[in-house]
Amino acid sequence: MKKICFATNNKHKIAEVSQMLAGKYKLVSLEEIGCSEELPEDHDTMEANSRQKAQHVWQKYNISCFADDSGLEVDALQGAPGVYSARYAGPQRSDSDNINLLLQNLEGNANRKANFRTSITLILDGQEHQFEGTVDGSITKAWKGDKGFGYDPVFVPEGYTQTFAEMSPEAKNAISHRGRAVRKLVDFLKTQG
Ligand code: IMP
Repeated sequence: MKKICFATNNKHKIAEVSQMLAGKYKLVSLEEIGCSEELPEDHDTMEANSRQKAQHVWQKYNISCFADDSGLEVDALQGAPGVYSARYAGPQRSDSDNINLLLQNLEGNANRKANFRTSITLILDGQEHQFEGTVDGSITKAWKGDKGFGYDPVFVPEGYTQTFAEMSPEAKNAISHRGRAVRKLVDFLKTQG
């Protein structure tokens, strides 16, 4: 079975995508290819960052691979926090500090529109392919729910009344930016080789 590295050490993410690939490829983590350094991601778009991470793995470890990069884009904040979502409130990368800053920056603003976006770059035998997933929604005025991570407690997807943090992982995955991008990647991989 052909091996592909998913440029992450998150076992949950690897198990989920492995299951979707239905045994067509063997997914391996960064740890399994002996990569223990932090992957570079110093660009200002999600596309460039997912590409930079995948290129790093391909060039250094010579294995087909894919990397993802996601973020929250808020209309009234001209697309912020975007690529800086994880460290919006500072280098401590605290989810609660990030949410508090976001709510503060939107205080009194009636325009609560936002979207999550994921970019995935796949490098398959040296050929690069990109996949994108988005979900539109809005930012609540207060925290709701305790599931998920990141900005989940303040993001309500369009057409729903619950935040991502109130949904089961399966319900979130069915409509989320990451779920959508991963399904595009998996559909593509299933057509290859
Ligand atoms: P990553 O590229 O998947 O590590 O995502 C970067 C940052 O974007 C995370 O640290 C979160 O702050 C935010 N983010 C990405 N995806 C989600 C999500 O599904 N829910 C909530 N926050 C997210």
